[in-house]
Amino acid sequence: MTDPAADPVAADLRPLVLPAAEDAHAWVEARARDGLATAEALVTGLRDDPPTGELAAMATLRAWDEVSRALSGVAAPVSLLANVHPDEAVRTACEAAEAEVDRYATALLQDRRLHDVLAALAPADLDDVAARLLAKTLEDFRRAGVDLGDDPRRRLAEIDDRLTVLGQDFGRHIRDDVRTVRVPSERLAGLPQDWLDAHPTDEDGLVTVTTDYPDSVPTRMFAHDAGVRRDLTVAFLERGWPENEPLLQEMFALRQELAGLVGYEDWPSYDAAVKMIGRGPAIPEFIDRITALAEEPMRRDLELLLERFRRDVPDAGAITTADSLYYEELVRRERHDVDAQQVRTYFDFSKVRQGLLDVTGRLLGLRYVPVPDAPVWHEDVAAYDVLDARADDRRIGRIYLDLHPREGKYKHAAQFSLADGLAGRQLAEGALVCNFSRGLMEHDHVVTLFHEFGHLVHHVLAGRGEWTRFSGVATEWDFVEAPSQMLEEWAWDAEVLRSFATDAAGVPIPADLVERMRAADDFGKGYQARTQMFYAAMSYWFHRDRPGDLTAAMRDLQERYSPFRYIEGTHMFAGFGHLSGYSSAYYTYMWSLVIAKDLFSAFDPADLFDADVAGRYRDRVLAPGGSRDAAELVTDFLGRPYAFDAYAAWLAR
Ligand SMILES: [Zn+2]
Repeated sequence: MTDPAADPVAADLRPLVLPAAEDAHAWVEARARDGLATAEALVTGLRDDPPTGELAAMATLRAWDEVSRALSGVAAPVSLLANVHPDEAVRTACEAAEAEVDRYATALLQDRRLHDVLAALAPADLDDVAARLLAKTLEDFRRAGVDLGDDPRRRLAEIDDRLTVLGQDFGRHIRDDVRTVRVPSERLAGLPQDWLDAHPTDEDGLVTVTTDYPDSVPTRMFAHDAGVRRDLTVAFLERGWPENEPLLQEMFALRQELAGLVGYEDWPSYDAAVKMIGRGPAIPEFIDRITALAEEPMRRDLELLLERFRRDVPDAGAITTADSLYYEELVRRERHDVDAQQVRTYFDFSKVRQGLLDVTGRLLGLRYVPVPDAPVWHEDVAAYDVLDARADDRRIGRIYLDLHPREGKYKHAAQFSLADGLAGRQLAEGALVCNFSRGLMEHDHVVTLFHEFGHLVHHVLAGRGEWTRFSGVATEWDFVEAPSQMLEEWAWDAEVLRSFATDAAGVPIPADLVERMRAADDFGKGYQARTQMFYAAMSYWFHRDRPGDLTAAMRDLQERYSPFRYIEGTHMFAGFGHLSGYSSAYYTYMWSLVIAKDLFSAFDPADLFDADVAGRYRDRVLAPGGSRDAAELVTDFLGRPYAFDAYAAWLAR
């Protein structure tokens, strides 16, 4: 193609060209070096020779935004590759680059001269979004301790540095701690045939079952043998222990110290100040509000679960997570006539992937065009250009789907940014990193795929603003899950599923089966909400109180909030990765679910693709990124402030 303008896909902004696997190491190092040098040159200019004259305020902010862009241009690709690259040396180099950018960014926010240049700008000379950027930037400086004396500032930098390392070590311990249980194949009765076929016995006549999700979820859900379920559950709960316990203690102590240095009472207050929830103490209030709303639905469903459990274990007084998935599945099958193994025959991975693209494309006015020759980090990865069907198929982003497990890869499901999109300057790019099986999928995993893809389209659609700071999924952290949680609804709609969920013979999933699946899914949501509140309470109170004995503290909170009894001798907190990333804010999953249910109430259940509603949603909630407060985006879309009613009604259903 000689004339890029003649090709609508190639026109306009160029995507990032990723390195071939063997060039990755050098690429990462060069990218980090160049990105940091660009940032440093811009910063020197701002410090020593800031723009003057009539348009100085805007010019200064633009230069500051270029610094952000240079830094995210390093941080985004290296944090992705640190989690997905097959070569361990590349992952390690990425972690080092990530830490370096983090250190540099922290130092910038503590740079008094740079701060003074920005603080001298008159907001009156700026438009609303630019004034917002200035206010947020100055708040960043204050939270980083720019007002403090030299010693506390140095200490803050030290803390931040150490927290980065702790977070990486903590995550790596979980990622690398793949535990296994080896059992004779006859003890795996109940597991789906295709799973058994993929897990042959070794020369000792044993099958190895790992704690990775594609093994652990079906085993805990389907294995009839209670001992196998228990062994695997215990192995799963022990990931990261004991080495992560002292890391967590240090992390909590450093976060507390950091919050204190910049004038907050505790870490949760510091963290909540830049979120929708606003105040630290509002977190336990929210947790208790949800706990109360979930009380009745929890009791109702837990009683059914125990009743079924007691048919096998007559004197059982309580149930643990070693049995909860298995009996939940049994109750669902027996009461709602939903057989997960039958359900999964309709969810062939490749059809699901195409269905996801078709459904989200239709809903949001997008088209995805495969880019088979784009360099990728592993042969499993598929690249697509994202075109705006509402604007002459103009390319607005590029996405990468890396959806199957492999050794050394991130173990969960998440969206990673690869490039922050900026109008006229940079194409939005991102990747989905998941661990789905290659054949038939559980419906749960289909829902997860829709969820994660929600983050990816949010990242792309919010990638055409003016400022790096507000590009992509840049809203308050306790709001970012809402659009994804809402998109899950499309993976539960019978009409939508008919379009891609077909069995081997091509027969679409029957509507009455989907209806029963939904009824079955409703089962347990009360106690699931309580489980979430147990995790949220752990995330809040561990940071607020920093208990000396984490196991005892976890146990207390489990008794207070969780429907499931503690399994003696386990240390689940050590593998609870969100303690690092979400810190005291695990409540955010539930907070944004409350808002997701409210957002979804604007759609007509009889026509989920209504172009008016979907268009408004795309324009008012997704496209603005972080350029307005999330509460305003929601109000703008709903025509009123968000409320708890839709969530409460769903929970009580
Ligand atoms: Zn999410």
